[in-house]
Amino acid sequence: MDLISHALFALILNQRFDLWVIVGSLLPDMDKLYTYPKKRFFRSESHTFIGEIPFASMFVFALSFLSPYFGPYLFSMAFGYMSHILLDFLAGETKPFRPFLKDKVDFNLGMKGKLALGAAIWLIGLNLYGGEIWISGRRLLG
Ligand SMILES: [Zn+2]
Repeated sequence: MDLISHALFALILNQRFDLWVIVGSLLPDMDKLYTYPKKRFFRSESHTFIGEIPFASMFVFALSFLSPYFGPYLFSMAFGYMSHILLDFLAGETKPFRPFLKDKVDFNLGMKGKLALGAAIWLIGLNLYGGEIWISGRRLLG
């Protein structure tokens, strides 16, 4: 899924606007900096193990564990991170247990199904949080 869908999906699940949830929801796609130059753009190949359940679980557990010491923003990031894994799992082809198992999971939504899901997320997310995103964007830019 695209980054905007990931950010909005995370906010919808979180049920309130939180910049750290957005940050966390974008983190799993950092591995695209590694896969894109290798021309691995599609399906489960576009992710590495950091976008799958075993690493995500450990990372999210670590963030949640550290959250009481460093601040609730770590828990928000963990929540956003997990929402990314969930959406990719539901909407795309993943190898959910990489690096331990290479089996693929794909619910075969098809292009129309993915577009409908993305459109629903954009519509619901922007309706609920568009105003706050606009305001905090303006605040960040000064
Ligand atoms: Zn992803």
